[in-house]
Amino acid sequence: MSKLASDSHSSTAAVQATNDDASASKLSCVNKGYMKDSYIHFFVRRPVKRSPIINRGYYARWAALRKLLLQFLKSERHGEDRNIKKQILSLGAGFDTTYFQLQEEGIAPHLYVELDFKEVTSKKAALIDSSQLKDKVGQAASISRERGEVLSDHYKLLPVDLREIQKLDNVIALAELDPCLPTFIIAECVLIYLDPDSSRAIIHPDDAFGEQMIRNLEKAVAWDMLQIYNNSIDTREKRRVERLELFDEFEEWHMMQEHYCVAYAINDAMGLFQYIGFSNDQHVLVPSPQLPQESEAC
Ligand code: SAH
Repeated sequence: MSKLASDSHSSTAAVQATNDDASASKLSCVNKGYMKDSYIHFFVRRPVKRSPIINRGYYARWAALRKLLLQFLKSERHGEDRNIKKQILSLGAGFDTTYFQLQEEGIAPHLYVELDFKEVTSKKAALIDSSQLKDKVGQAASISRERGEVLSDHYKLLPVDLREIQKLDNVIALAELDPCLPTFIIAECVLIYLDPDSSRAIIHPDDAFGEQMIRNLEKAVAWDMLQIYNNSIDTREKRRVERLELFDEFEEWHMMQEHYCVAYAINDAMGLFQYIGFSNDQHVLVPSPQLPQESEAC
């Protein structure tokens, strides 16, 4: 292997390892009672205890994303068909268990698609195959560890390197995502690992579509995590989690949370999403057709 190839290989391995770290941290939170996730333990080989500040940070990230996701899933047009099919596309999903959680809560969307490097999707497919998660994706699902795939009617896990934009298009087609349906696209702690050209290609800011999205983003629909934690997470929930562990690292907490943000852009061609956002007066409404709903978070 050339130096360049081996550097790129080890950095790819390091990026994939961030997923193991995220899963272990989520399990640490769950074990301390920050949030409920009956599935994350299937994906963690060696449980660890994280410090209170890390637990609280993961909780805040989970609560922020969950808020947007639930707003999306609950959105409907007043007085109209309550069963509009919806889709979620998770870029760099890692071992995220949101699909299984939503299914347990009876609110899984019509289609949930997860993409990641093949090394990661192969491991995830194997762990699904060898656990009770197999029943959750349905008996009729086809699971291939070798191909790093899980294909069922409502859940699809597929391998792709997000930097290979052409292949990404093919994979999205293979996943049978319907471009006409409302779609929540999430990239949680993922785009940060891509070089700017690759993330530009994913967000495609150069076509009419993307230009509108950039205009949205310029309307400052980005909240830092401190703002979100202080102003947008349910007060009772916050009071509950703040009692879980002794916590005195306030200065560090503020610095850390200000360092992260959630940015989102919405295209509301169907008039469904007036109430999405961290507070009702912060949403943007963009009447340009066919742009899917997108959310980028880290
Ligand atoms: N979104 C998940 C995982 C975050 S860890 C969560 O929030 O828990 C970052 C994930 O992005 C890893 O699983 C890593 O493999 C994936 N990733 C990073 N660069 C990628 C690329 N070029 N192609 C596919 N997946 C990538």
